Amino acid sequence: MSFRRIESQDKAIKLLKGTLITKKIPNAFIFIGDPYIGKTSTAIAYAKSLNCLNPENDYDSCGICLSCIKIESGLHPDVKVLAPEKDIITVNNIREIEEFVSFQPLEGKYKVVIMKQANKMNQAAANAFLKTVEEPPLNTIIILICENIHTLPEPLVSRCFKVYFKPLSIDTIKKFIPDNPDKENLIRIVMGRPGLLISKDILKDIQWFAATLKNVEEKNKKSVWKDNEEIKWWIDFLCIFLRDSLVKILKNVEPLKQIDSDCCPILPLDFKLKKNITAEEILELYEELQSIRKNIDLNLNKSILWNYLVSRIHSLIASSSLNKQKL
Ligand SMILES: [Zn+2]
Repeated sequence: MSFRRIESQDKAIKLLKGTLITKKIPNAFIFIGDPYIGKTSTAIAYAKSLNCLNPENDYDSCGICLSCIKIESGLHPDVKVLAPEKDIITVNNIREIEEFVSFQPLEGKYKVVIMKQANKMNQAAANAFLKTVEEPPLNTIIILICENIHTLPEPLVSRCFKVYFKPLSIDTIKKFIPDNPDKENLIRIVMGRPGLLISKDILKDIQWFAATLKNVEEKNKKSVWKDNEEIKWWIDFLCIFLRDSLVKILKNVEPLKQIDSDCCPILPLDFKLKKNITAEEILELYEELQSIRKNIDLNLNKSILWNYLVSRIHSLIASSSLNKQKL
């Protein structure tokens, strides 16, 4: 993918193009923003622009030269994309990077290291990596990718050029989804993150979420999440469920009864709230969930979090509806 094909990240792309046009290229970047909004695609596009054999206007890759094709297909010897193994980046992974950058570029002008979920570096890895960022070998560019800058050690952050990414607008997301009966709901569920449409089976995951809500009935059950990414995805669904619940409550408030069609439920679930639940209580939990989601990567204990959320959901949803829910 070239810069011109990346949607709605104009500010980030302008910054990156600026570094190429002025030829003032920082050795280390951090790309910051929600998952699934184009950070890795942009990092690949930047690696292509740095090494393209026939760049357009000095800043964008041609997409068709041998270098561009190799980078796009993950076969370029000078571009390395690293992701956590088993949810962690260890000092051994950092040693691999050190070895990789210790040699001059083989084919391109720059060696480029793209580290996905950089916050998954453990302390030893982050300490070791700090040295590479402080004294990078010539013609080496490092791009760290993370969701929340506060989950990375400050000394590392302070040495990197920061580029912020934002979720895409609804109009842009519409272009990614073919016309189908679920289109409007899918647009709302992805909340500006088009990568979710590729990496997730969203309709199946709705069933997964509904099944986990049934587990809530058995309070002692262990957490249903495999990793932090799954917690975030589950919280996203829970927030949409709360939003749907809020709509149901507001539709019974006299001045709001003529609520427009945009306010239909998004998730096809039939859990019922307890009778005395107020809009304020739902909004309070919604805000709490947003705060928890932001801090997931700061090593929250999954089991404690699950038990806490189970008790919170229990206080909202009528037990009879949890029992009766058909999946
Ligand atoms: Zn090219």
